[in-house]
Amino acid sequence: MNSAPLTVRQARVPVALLPPGFAAPLDPDDPAALCDIALRDGKIGLVSLAAATPLAPGEFDAAGRLVFPAFVEAHTHLDKAHTWCRAPNRTGTFMDALTTLARDKPHQTPADLRLRADFALRSAWAHGTRVVRTHVDSDLAAAEHRHAVMAELRAAWSGRIALQTVSLCNGADYTTPAGEKISDLAVRHGASALGGFLQMSAGLPHQLDRLVAIARERRLGLDLHVDENGDAQSECLRAVAEAVLRHAFPFPVVCGHCCSLALQSPARQRETIGLVKAARLGIISLPLCNLYLQDRRAAGDSRAPQWRGLAPILDLLAAGVPVACAGDNVRDAFYPYGDLDALEVYTQSVRLAHLDADLATSVRVVTSTAADLVGRPEFGRIAPGAPARLVVLAARSFSELLSRPGMSRLCIDGGEIHSPTAPSYDELRAAGLMTYPLPR
Ligand SMILES: [Zn+2]
Repeated sequence: MNSAPLTVRQARVPVALLPPGFAAPLDPDDPAALCDIALRDGKIGLVSLAAATPLAPGEFDAAGRLVFPAFVEAHTHLDKAHTWCRAPNRTGTFMDALTTLARDKPHQTPADLRLRADFALRSAWAHGTRVVRTHVDSDLAAAEHRHAVMAELRAAWSGRIALQTVSLCNGADYTTPAGEKISDLAVRHGASALGGFLQMSAGLPHQLDRLVAIARERRLGLDLHVDENGDAQSECLRAVAEAVLRHAFPFPVVCGHCCSLALQSPARQRETIGLVKAARLGIISLPLCNLYLQDRRAAGDSRAPQWRGLAPILDLLAAGVPVACAGDNVRDAFYPYGDLDALEVYTQSVRLAHLDADLATSVRVVTSTAADLVGRPEFGRIAPGAPARLVVLAARSFSELLSRPGMSRLCIDGGEIHSPTAPSYDELRAAGLMTYPLPR
């Protein structure tokens, strides 16, 4: 990264991302403050209210545009990204997503994984994201090459995007020798946390006991897929909180999805959220994917969906539980759309989850809270010592920002101001990724 000094003048910075105690006036409808930001040696230096002095050489005039810290994508699946055209999920249901991607697995060679994941990372880069956490399918048959490819990409992207990996397998695997093998393999390839998808069963507490023990031995936190369904009886989140409390598990634990929590009775939901808070869990909501998959009817049943499918984000936030929002799947059988664009995730999350109830803090879901939950708290803030990674948006107010899809933006990385473009789909087309649906 070019670390030449640069001062960004007249930047409208979301107040919730400024240093604690920074005295800035707060307009709840447009919660940003006009600031000057000094960048030096690849880091943010002084952040101050904008001065009225004329622009000097070496200064960049943001001209009152909104300036965010680089975004953090806290939960995606790079190994599945961009498989939709060859492996479309024609019913759009969760079950068909699983079976469709299982049929696609033979196509997911190291070269194929590398091509699709790198394409996705270039999109993330162009959209201003500098930390990406991906879950990696870790069934033992394919885990080695999948994690190896992600480790290769981590090295290739080092200095541009911090790429984190999390193992993804069935929670029940942790009660068998496979669980330890998967964990060791993931750790060997630099995983940031152990993960898995949990399902309600009598054995769930035992699975979690094992998982917590395995993670503790390896001094790693957990990042789990829980309750991605509309069944109020699905209470894996509660089981995770109870396991963390039971074992006084000291490493960070985040739970993704948590959809069914929204369907529990208010009393039960409050109680579960209380346990989540006591266990210091973080929640990652995946609004775009949930909106697509949840409450989708089986083929032949044309009833409209009755609920959004999202975790109760406002209730969690009101209880003091940290909540990030992330993009989850990108152009695969779980979600046929998306482009690793955290700004899209943010604007859609505001609309879907009514985050505009508190617009000022809403920005944290793809910045500071997302950074905290993936263990990179130096990101997602505009504060002294934070990485000099900024996104300058073509909007001078939140109303403008939230109203226009595909908002254009400039990226600032150290002393470099640039406007990277997302890769062309023609690359995927040339590689045959847009053209050959698998046989039904
Ligand atoms: Zn996921």
